[in-house]
Amino acid sequence: MISRSKQLFERAQQSIPGGVNSPVRAFKSVGGTPIFMSHANGAYMYDADGNRYIDYINSWGPMIMGHAYEPVIKAIKDKAVLSTSFGAPTELEIEMAELIISMAPNVDMVRMVSSGTEACMSALRLARGYTGRNKFIKFEGCYHGHADAFLVKAGSGMATFNIQTVPGVTAGASMDTLTAPYNELDAVAELVSENKDEIAAIIIEPVAGNMGCIVPVPGFLEGLRLICDREGIVLIFDEVMTGFRLAAGGAQERLGVNADLVTFGKVIGGGLPVGAFGGKKEIMQCIAPLGNVYQAGTLSGNPIAMIAGYTLLKTLKDHPEIYAELDQKTEQIHAGLESVFNKLDHPFVINRLGSMISVHFSDKPVNNFTDAASANNAMFNRFFHSMLDNGVYLPPSAFETWFVCHAISELDIQHTIASAAKFN
Ligand SMILES: *Cc1c(COP(=O)(O)O)cnc(C)c1O
Repeated sequence: MISRSKQLFERAQQSIPGGVNSPVRAFKSVGGTPIFMSHANGAYMYDADGNRYIDYINSWGPMIMGHAYEPVIKAIKDKAVLSTSFGAPTELEIEMAELIISMAPNVDMVRMVSSGTEACMSALRLARGYTGRNKFIKFEGCYHGHADAFLVKAGSGMATFNIQTVPGVTAGASMDTLTAPYNELDAVAELVSENKDEIAAIIIEPVAGNMGCIVPVPGFLEGLRLICDREGIVLIFDEVMTGFRLAAGGAQERLGVNADLVTFGKVIGGGLPVGAFGGKKEIMQCIAPLGNVYQAGTLSGNPIAMIAGYTLLKTLKDHPEIYAELDQKTEQIHAGLESVFNKLDHPFVINRLGSMISVHFSDKPVNNFTDAASANNAMFNRFFHSMLDNGVYLPPSAFETWFVCHAISELDIQHTIASAAKFN
């Protein structure tokens, strides 16, 4: 019998390009039919055919406590009846800003937006406006949303589908984008000296999650900080994945390196469309209406989005033990997968920091995009389907990190490891 997901996918392709509203969801690289979800609770997602999956995507991060987290759902319900949008300021926006500032280091002021893409493109514009310079450096395999200037050697779906150049992005829009390999400080130093006084910003995922999980080598982020200080370059940490996930203060707190501007998304919205960018007061004051760097949004600071994000962040702030527990759960998954894979013939690398983890089937360390791309990603695709058949839902690409949620149980972890043991 043809599954309901298959039927829905057939139908979706008639009215939605590729049948999906974001490319990686289409399963194109792993093959097979994308699974249409009907509902989710805690660590589990349920598909349109009634199958249950242990979820390791968690909406790509926001569901850090698990799906349908009761306090967030209740807050949304209570708020919705008071109107879902004003287009005028509200007290809740101040509370949200104050909460973010109290959690994230080096954020004196913050502006809310509606996605990570918007946060990153606004932060880049701001860094350019503040410095009066045009060029910026990004890293191969890092993804900063789909604004034109960032679609150069980008990770996530661009890497998954091996898209080198994007039709529609003009040469003008990307000519000031310089790229360097992740974890290679010398390459950055060289770019900076070749483009003396022309670089506005260095933007980086302080722990990369869009080429699988890649952890910065010791000294790399510290080295970027020194270069930026010396050259008057704005250091932007794209904490859309890592923010409020690796610690209450994100990667800045966890790794002890300071950024000038920070972008947020994913966890910050508790599952609603929210992003934010913030940083040093001196820089943030350049934004309109204080300065002339223009940035705006009809639904920015939307009350439903704000109450969802606020409720989740407040939980994380008030219960710091959540981070230790997330780490411990993910450590257990890490150790379990390692012992299972050690019995297989395939070489593998597991990268992890906190509750971000991924597997590359590679015989050498995976520290940058070239390493990730040269791994046996056909094997990853088989692994993905093998896990899916056992009710474990991993990201459908080797170029994505997995996200562990707090709701995952001991039994779920054991089931995950036992499922991996069936792979051959
Ligand atoms: C997801 C992501 C973005 C883009 O966020 P959207 O909300 O999808 O626009 C930007 N940067 C990083 C590091 C991301 O993981």
